[in-house]
Amino acid sequence: MSLRIEVLSGLGGKAPAAILVEAKGKRLLLDAGGALHPGQSNEWAAGLDVDAVLITHDHIDHIGGVTALPGELPLYCTSPVAAALPPGRDWRPLPERGECRIAGIPVTTGQAGHSLGGVWLHLGVAGGVFYSGDACLESLLLPFDEPPPARVALLDASYGIYDVPQAQCREAIARRLSEPRVLPVPASGRALEMALWLDTLAPRLGITWDLDSVCRKGLEALLELPRSLRRVGGDAAIRQLLDAPRPTSPSLWLVADRDDDPHDWPAHRLLHTGYLTPRRQRQRVAGEVDWQRWNVHLRLSHLRALVRQLGARQVVPLFTTDVREVNELLMTPSGLMMATEGSDAAG
Ligand SMILES: [Zn+2]
Repeated sequence: MSLRIEVLSGLGGKAPAAILVEAKGKRLLLDAGGALHPGQSNEWAAGLDVDAVLITHDHIDHIGGVTALPGELPLYCTSPVAAALPPGRDWRPLPERGECRIAGIPVTTGQAGHSLGGVWLHLGVAGGVFYSGDACLESLLLPFDEPPPARVALLDASYGIYDVPQAQCREAIARRLSEPRVLPVPASGRALEMALWLDTLAPRLGITWDLDSVCRKGLEALLELPRSLRRVGGDAAIRQLLDAPRPTSPSLWLVADRDDDPHDWPAHRLLHTGYLTPRRQRQRVAGEVDWQRWNVHLRLSHLRALVRQLGARQVVPLFTTDVREVNELLMTPSGLMMATEGSDAAG
């Protein structure tokens, strides 16, 4: 069976995700990413002709390019993700965990452990094509489902060769909470698990904390999802957090990221925990903001485990400048054949 994969965007750096898969005479677009910051190139949609688009999750670099696609193009996503589509955009349901056919191609989905309603995609063509979207094996709240075997693996390598366990990240963040802080975070992703973690941590540190209404709505939405779509044991803690009285002037704020600047928070200092735009990188260098990662992507050990579990013969590390290094480190003694920096995986 002929298979052609073209990474339209997302290879060689942190960039909008857009991957074209052509099989059985049909063309599927996996994700339709938008620019992560002003000035980032985002031309992948020009002249594109596809049969359907599948969106893995609601972060801007995976969904923000939908506006550049024809409104009548069939679009598939889960219902929590559909809430982030442009108003009035038609969409068709993608299972949060299950199987369907799109343009005649068998598609399996599973929870990606990265964001509310976010999934990975597996296409049942040519021995299997797995696309992780953004994925994480370390979420306190969101499960990662084991995918079926796949000959080709397109993987979230946003962290390159980084391999620090989440427990160490949490300790490093905790050490920075002795002064008044604001943590701007993606509301559908790490906000939810950070909220639960802070609710346990804050009393131990003797600090007060609160979350904004957007983060609060994310937790409420999480409780509305079928129970099997979150890790066991968290529901009571989420309800307790939502019901508890909140302090009037907390020393710590967890807020949905609205491009917050230091001058927006004169009494607090910003602590970023994820991707830094060029502007924020400059602010960090100038000592105006701080940064300490909270893992929401696959780190090297987990990429390696996933490749082994998939039985992948070709791996394409996405969203990283360290394509060659990641590929070399993913090599196994069995002589796994790795893709190089080329964007086509033909076979
Ligand atoms: Zn994401």
